[in-house]
Amino acid sequence: MINVGNYLVEIDKTACRSFGACIELCPQYFHFSDIDGKSSFKGSSTISEKEGVVSEKIVLDELGCVKNATETCPFKAIHITDLKTGEKL
Ligand code: SF4
Repeated sequence: MINVGNYLVEIDKTACRSFGACIELCPQYFHFSDIDGKSSFKGSSTISEKEGVVSEKIVLDELGCVKNATETCPFKAIHITDLKTGEKL
């Protein structure tokens, strides 16, 4: 069976205010985008737009520092979904 990853992580680009806490706490995964100046994933990701909200998505096997970065974002712009249970973390 192919392992497609355990967690969906999304950056809500519309909510992100480029505060930088996620990048400071978790530089392995996050950096500022050269395009919009907002937080962006370093790995391969997809960007989509729905009802005026732009979000960038990535699927990870392990969360590592992403969890801490998500909890620290003052604008609640990062969201994690456990793909096995559908639970929002
Ligand atoms: S901490 Fe939140 S607001 Fe700041 S850059 Fe990261 S996602 Fe954007």
